[in-house]
Order: sequence, then C-alpha cells, then structure tokens
Amino acid sequence: MTASVSLPQNLDIWQNTLKWQPNSDEWQQFQQLYEQILEGNHRLNLTRITEPLDFVEKHLWDSLAGILLTNNLNQDESYQVIDIGTGAGFPGLPVAIAFPQWQITLLDSTRKKIQFLDELLEHLSLSNAKTLLGRSEVIGQDKQYRAIYDLALIRAVGEPSVCAEYALPLLKIGGLAVLYRGHWNEEDTAKLTQGILKLGGKIEAIKTVKTPWTEGTRHFIYLRKIDKTLAYYPRAVGIPTQTPL
Ligand code: SAM
Repeated sequence: MTASVSLPQNLDIWQNTLKWQPNSDEWQQFQQLYEQILEGNHRLNLTRITEPLDFVEKHLWDSLAGILLTNNLNQDESYQVIDIGTGAGFPGLPVAIAFPQWQITLLDSTRKKIQFLDELLEHLSLSNAKTLLGRSEVIGQDKQYRAIYDLALIRAVGEPSVCAEYALPLLKIGGLAVLYRGHWNEEDTAKLTQGILKLGGKIEAIKTVKTPWTEGTRHFIYLRKIDKTLAYYPRAVGIPTQTPL
C-alpha cells in the first residue's frame, strides 16, 4: 500500500490562472486519481511525475489549462472527446472529472495501461469516460470512430504533424484538436501549417502560458477541422512517425 499524501490545494491559484477551481467532490477525485496512479506505478511504468505539487501542476493543472484557456469551447455542450495516447490518463481523466457532461474516450495502444485505466475508472466511479485499446492510425480509419469526435486531446505523443495526423481524421468537421506542447517556435508553426492542409485542418490559435508554480512554459495549439480529411490519412501504423507530413 502507498501511504496517502494530500495534494496541495491552492484554490486561489486555480481561480486566478484558469478562472475555475475544483469543487470538493472534484478535488476528492483528483486525490483518488493521484493515489491510484502512485499505486499503479509500482506495477507499471505509468509516470515519473509523482511528487504532490508536480502532479498537481504537470498532470492536473496542465490537462485542464488546455481546455480552460480557450474561448473556442462551450463547456455546457455535451461533447464527444478523445484523448489520443492517454498513457496514465492525461489529459483525459482530469477533463472527465471537471466536465461530467462530456463523454471522454481514453485511447492508448498499450494493453497494460488500458487495463489499469479500466480499473481506475471503476474505482473513481467515472461514468463519462471509457477506454479504447488500439493504434490511432487504425482507429482513425475505422468507420466506428472516424469523424465522430468534437474534441481531440493529445499530449506527449509525437511531433506536431504526427499528432495532427492522428487527431484530425477522428474529428467531425468543425471539431477542435488541442496539441499540448512544451517548446514551440515559428518554425513549428510553419511546418504544421503546411502539413495539416492535407488533413483538412488549420491552426486556429496558439496559446503560450507559464505554469503557476514552477513557471514552466507551455503551449497549447488549437487546430480546427475545416474540411474532410482525405481517406488516405492517417497512413498505416508507423508511417506518420517515420515520414511526418
Ligand atoms: N498523454 C500522456 C501524458 O501526457 O502523460 C501519456 C504520454 S506517453 C509519453 C505516450 C503514450 O502514447 C503511450 O502510453 C503510448 O502507448 C501511446 N501511443 C503512442 N503512439 C500511439 C498511437 N499511434 N496510438 C495510440 N497510442 C499511442
């Protein structure tokens, strides 16, 4: 058993930076999520971010900042959301906790992580999230999943154009992809602008923020799907990473 360590709350920081703060039920779920991930880390290599404040900043705050710092989403809508390469459930799980009216699919290609997430969802009684095991290159070509999502989230999965090739085919026209990035520069913007033309996407906004506790720089890249993605994309497993657009 892992000894329970309380996460630091600092609600004023959440309020000042995101104009939102978790209520007591949400906070309790964040705390349970933390404990379950620490526990799971003994068996699986889930995350290196395990210190309480680090967990709050880099997993919880960061996951929600990508959503809360854009005006391009309507929080009251009942969105279909997919988190691509979710790993231990980021950014999808904090989003599922904070937005119970959204339906979240947590996609990952690693069976053990999906099994862990299935147990976690049951433990947290999170009824608006479910898991999906598979490669996004395959899922993106499957009629059951292609072009059905309003929102696609993707963090720490690959190069920007690879993320775009995974995310855009899954979105409905009008849907939004959020790329969670650390570094970003003009060259990245130019490369991505070129690549996503073929996928029916355009860069709608780029938001740069400092994380509130350690002042790390984060970038959120918002891509709007403005046209159908050609049937050719996403390409076969491994091709997007071998030859990025
Ligand atoms: N998004 C999480 C985060 O930010 O903490 C996890 C990031 S982890 C570095 C990358 C995850 O993406 C891994 O769990 C891996 O299994 C998954 N992944 C990589 N390529 C994938 C693909 N093509 N389809 C589905 N999952 C993929």
